Amino acid sequence: MSCLKPEGAEPGGLNNAGLDFNPADMMEPRKPGAISPDLKNGGRVKHNDVAPEGVYLPDYNILTPHMRSPEYVQMSTAAAITLGITKGKMHRCDCTRCLNLLLTYPEGCRANCAYCGLARHREAERDYADRNFIRVDWPAVPMEEVASIVAKDGENSPFHRMCISMITHPRSDEDTFTVLKAWTDKVDPSAIPISILSNPTTMTRHDVKCLHTMGSDIFTVAIDAATPEIFDRTRGKGVQSPHSWKKYWDIMMDAREIFGPKKFGAHVIIGMGETEFDALTLVQQLVDLGGHSHMFCFFPEKGSLMDHLPATPRDQWRRVQLARYLIDYCDKRVEDMTFDEHGRVSDFGIPQAELDMTIDSGIAFRTSGCPGKFADDISACDRPYGDSPPSNIASYPFQPADVDIRKIRSQMGMLRDGETYEGGEDIETIHG
Ligand code: SF4
Repeated sequence: MSCLKPEGAEPGGLNNAGLDFNPADMMEPRKPGAISPDLKNGGRVKHNDVAPEGVYLPDYNILTPHMRSPEYVQMSTAAAITLGITKGKMHRCDCTRCLNLLLTYPEGCRANCAYCGLARHREAERDYADRNFIRVDWPAVPMEEVASIVAKDGENSPFHRMCISMITHPRSDEDTFTVLKAWTDKVDPSAIPISILSNPTTMTRHDVKCLHTMGSDIFTVAIDAATPEIFDRTRGKGVQSPHSWKKYWDIMMDAREIFGPKKFGAHVIIGMGETEFDALTLVQQLVDLGGHSHMFCFFPEKGSLMDHLPATPRDQWRRVQLARYLIDYCDKRVEDMTFDEHGRVSDFGIPQAELDMTIDSGIAFRTSGCPGKFADDISACDRPYGDSPPSNIASYPFQPADVDIRKIRSQMGMLRDGETYEGGEDIETIHG
């Protein structure tokens, strides 16, 4: 058994090897175990066949009802609170600006990505609708009800964007069309633009075209791993998962042609064994193609095949956030940055005054994602605490205040002369 334990992996400090980055040889996922046949494919839920009644809140202690898309979708806790169907408070945020919807089936996602709480290998342990995506619960809600509530709010809707997240399932392409239609029948896509977080493994170019024709604005691919090797190890053959790097790129290139510049992009998770140079080379490649990158910080989700591994040290994460922002929004290039022998950024390639200004503006450290209505570089999709606990924030779902900037600077070893950061936790809890 590995000596790497999440308890010993101080999120944001050095990892268990005393490093300020997660190297490739440390980030090996566990192998998935065998699953009893009666628990496969949502066996328990389908066997009991309990009809759902309205909203279902994830609860490991009751019998999960038999819900499936397109009638039902799951949504992030933040979206459910903003929509008014779940009670709760989010630390330092009033609401989320993105209504993230996720397809749902008793069979769950048929892929086995090593870092994901929804992965297939968990079917013996938790019913699909009770699993966490990463960190937060996703309540299940009838789709008609979701579209009706947002339509009723009209121009006063708090949402700047709606996003349909596909999962790997034989019905997910068809059901995405149906969910999209149910939405556009009630909500004008020019009032609340639509993003698709796709699942390329089951998709064709024709599917990408249909999603565009039906009113989607942005198409993203959750490539997640920054290199083909890490992709294969964490979400391909290495964990008996069906995805391939090539298929993901093929569909992303289809989206590039069909959706056009700035309307396609990729999600990337930082800290799964890639170097900072690898990750930022990918960011540059996406920018050169006309797209964007949206970034997550690796979090060892309990129950996932990587739950024994350390979270991304905050200094690695901050360096990549900052460099990615410079490449994505400030026309800086990876070739002008300097990297050390471990592929870590050692110089961002811009004058110190400019670097200070970018750090102090704080936007680089906010959650990245598709834009809302405030500015191109401010994501509608703020996914509060989806990649870290609120006690040690990785992606800020709000504008960082002065104290946050000092914390970020201290994490990067970039406090200015005379500046101090006393340390301390951001907060302990998320829900009220
Ligand atoms: S395809 Fe997506 S939802 Fe399914 S296991 Fe992989 S990351 Fe999770």
